[in-house]
Amino acid sequence: SQALGGNSYQFYSSEMNIKALENLAMASALHDAIARDELELHYQPQVDLASGEIIGMEALARWRHPQHGMVSPMVFIPLAEETGQISLIGAWVLREACRQNKAWQDEGLPPLRVAVNLSARQFCQRDITAIVAQALADTGLESRFLELEITESMLMHDVNATISIMQQLKELGISFSLDDFGTGYSSLSYLKRFPIETLKIDQSFVRDIPHDKDDSAIAAAIIAMASALGIKVIAEGVETPEQLAFLNTQKCTGMQGYYFSKPLPSEEFAQLLRQGKTL
Ligand code: C2E
Ligand code: CA
Ligand code: CA
Ligand code: CA
Repeated sequence: SQALGGNSYQFYSSEMNIKALENLAMASALHDAIARDELELHYQPQVDLASGEIIGMEALARWRHPQHGMVSPMVFIPLAEETGQISLIGAWVLREACRQNKAWQDEGLPPLRVAVNLSARQFCQRDITAIVAQALADTGLESRFLELEITESMLMHDVNATISIMQQLKELGISFSLDDFGTGYSSLSYLKRFPIETLKIDQSFVRDIPHDKDDSAIAAAIIAMASALGIKVIAEGVETPEQLAFLNTQKCTGMQGYYFSKPLPSEEFAQLLRQGKTL
């Protein structure tokens, strides 16, 4: 970014503008990332402690940037949202997750549901139902093996419009999970209005259990209420045996986190599946 602006535009050398120019360079590189085959998906298993089995996997996007190395989705997804590139990237992620999942099934590996993250802007795309339907049709993946992860904040805007979009998608046969639960403002009774199968307890509530009494109480309350409403729960970010033990005593058996496995490149995830469905 040094070369940008030169001497004539001192004003532009403020840190904020350098950041903006770097973002611009990043955005233009992101534009080519798909064509250059720089995007990939990693997969993290979701485990049911009761059966000890892998019950699903979450697809997480990675960008192998030629200069910057692995770029976090926390950087490039928000950037893609700002620039509108999220439609292209989001469609690629959907198709790639479906393609990979179908390929694993065709190989004879135990069939699993793959969860794909939808960003707010992607969810609001007018043709989101057609895009999801197309990804399923093109790859031949049965819709029951696809789950879409949305966040609480996406439910807050226009409730009726959101329900109608979700209903359309559900008619395809896919399911929904609610990501980062507890960080927004919705109540569980309000949630009942949306066709959601699974709640994912945000990692921020899992991190300090069982030592932090407030977080432990919140996690326990989410689990109890979800269970009363017939909604499944997955705890995110499970890293320690103590967290696992606490969640288990609260009857939350759906778990995801480093304790079981980090998100893995597809080939490593396939190896994990080939070893058997249990972790
Ligand atoms: P998320 O959907 O909440 O995904 C979970 C994040 O927690 C992932 O970070 C995962 O690697 C990380 N994680 C999993 N287990 C543990 C654990 O035990 N401890 C800790 N500390 N972290 C754990 P990642 O892959 O960096 O993704 C960050 C965020 O980027 C995701 O948060 C999601 O919001 C977004 N994202 C990733 N891929 C996509 C995508 O394809 N599309 C969209 N729209 N967003 C994506
Ligand atoms: Ca997620
Ligand atoms: Ca999450
Ligand atoms: Ca998150």
